[in-house]
Amino acid sequence: MKFITIDKKDWAKGIEKSRKTYQLFGPVKDKNGFFIKSLGKDMLPDMDYHDSVMSVKSVLFPQTENILTTTLDEAQEDHHIMKRAVTDYSPRAVLGIRPYDAKAIELVKLNFDTDDYKDPYWCDAYEATTFVGLGLNKPGPFDFSSSTGSGPFNEEGLDVLLADLDDKYLAKVLTDKGEAFIKACGFDLIADDKESQALFDILRKEAEKNIVSKISTDKLKEKTILEIHEAPFWDDIAFSCINCGTCTFVCPTCWCFDIQDETKRKASTRIRNWDTCMSPLFTKHATGHNPRDTKTQRVRQRFMHKLKYFFDKYDQGIMCVGCGRCVKSCPVNIDIREVCNMMNSYEKQE
Ligand code: SF4
Ligand code: SF4
Repeated sequence: MKFITIDKKDWAKGIEKSRKTYQLFGPVKDKNGFFIKSLGKDMLPDMDYHDSVMSVKSVLFPQTENILTTTLDEAQEDHHIMKRAVTDYSPRAVLGIRPYDAKAIELVKLNFDTDDYKDPYWCDAYEATTFVGLGLNKPGPFDFSSSTGSGPFNEEGLDVLLADLDDKYLAKVLTDKGEAFIKACGFDLIADDKESQALFDILRKEAEKNIVSKISTDKLKEKTILEIHEAPFWDDIAFSCINCGTCTFVCPTCWCFDIQDETKRKASTRIRNWDTCMSPLFTKHATGHNPRDTKTQRVRQRFMHKLKYFFDKYDQGIMCVGCGRCVKSCPVNIDIREVCNMMNSYEKQE
């Protein structure tokens, strides 16, 4: 374990220095709020942000991604042979992500990086990326991360965790990748381990006091899938949903996608796009049959996946880190905290 003190006066210079090795990403403000974006020349991450509209998910799993290409030109020897699209996987660092988003990456990893199957696009992007988190000193009203196994100073999934101490950052270096990044920035003022850890503990406890919103998940595991699936509350929960998919797109743990082929003249590309289980088209078969053709079925699927199927399959808690984005963004106020508590406390009437 190593702690480094970074004077904020030296921050910009260090970040610029790291560009020799890393492509940089970080929070950037636009007219709709903060987004985690690529930091072009002379751009610095805006570390004074509170939370971002979208998470870091798209750095590893872009909204639209070319995965395979081929040529239809029969004069070419390799025509119609699909080849992996060329993508830049040189080292990259994402700066200032919130700790719950790093935990979300670890949950997504359970899907994309398994013993049976490794998604090469996600895995290569993950390997190339160094995650530099920024502890959240004052979580907002939608944050319920401390009851999801994450929290405002969660370290899981991070390579470095920064604590904002007004005029300086205290950096906790968590992995070799993190150490390489700190070195590339030229930050070398070593802080005392014991004092620094005590400071992190105080900040974490203070931050957690701000989290007033909680969920209960203790009884989810003991209930059967069928029991919750057939609970009478799903029609009521789904009633107002307009199937916009916003909750899934803003969610750092949602990973559904669709594959499409696009051809322009003789160049053909296979593209992976984010998709959403909230859309009727998502499960529509070529025959026209749709196994989830009602809104209730789709809304239930989203919550059952996050709060029951995932929990049962991986035994790593729920597929939600409590960032609160879906609660904040849903145009009709469907709230996963309420749904989770309903599922958790549901008792089947005999
Ligand atoms: S389900 Fe909602 S609160 Fe949970 S991680 Fe996704 S967006 Fe955040
Ligand atoms: S954001 Fe709300 S309305 Fe839109 S799909 Fe999700 S639950 Fe339905």
